[in-house]
Amino acid sequence: MNYLKLVNKSNPLEKCDIPLYLKEINREYNIGKNNLLDKKVKFWFELMAKQAKKNNIILKNISAYRSYEYQEKLYESYKENNLENLDMSSAKAGYSEHQTGFALDINMDNINFYETIEYQWLSKNAYKYGFILRYPKDKEYITGYKFEPWHYRYVGRKHSKKIYENNLTLEEYIEKKQK
Ligand SMILES: [Zn+2]
Repeated sequence: MNYLKLVNKSNPLEKCDIPLYLKEINREYNIGKNNLLDKKVKFWFELMAKQAKKNNIILKNISAYRSYEYQEKLYESYKENNLENLDMSSAKAGYSEHQTGFALDINMDNINFYETIEYQWLSKNAYKYGFILRYPKDKEYITGYKFEPWHYRYVGRKHSKKIYENNLTLEEYIEKKQK
């Protein structure tokens, strides 16, 4: 499994790219109908949520794996509703990281999440479980997306630690590695 797989506006997936090992997130840590993750990512997310809970931090998935077809419908529905800055907020089918099974949205998909203790906890601890904040503030020009405090991406602990410590995006990290 290539947990560093880059999916963004320049690197789309194919319609037939479907993760091999999807598993359902434990109901204790899920409130979404898109409740599938790659099995290793599921393991680490649940471990993180379990540890967080000990500190009274409640983390629940609201949207994890999304198929190409699902993303297609989602994007169309946003378009019909004339969502502002659509392409900064939502991905066209094939261009969403949710199709990898390595990413998930936690608790609420709106900017108010930034003000929560759960966000604060994730900011300090998510990297210890292999997760990175995928669309950070002030990095819109690199990621192509506005700040999404709720969207986390699994890359594995070795990489998440370096990304966290150097305050990088996945795009910057991969580019650096290739040099
Ligand atoms: Zn997301």
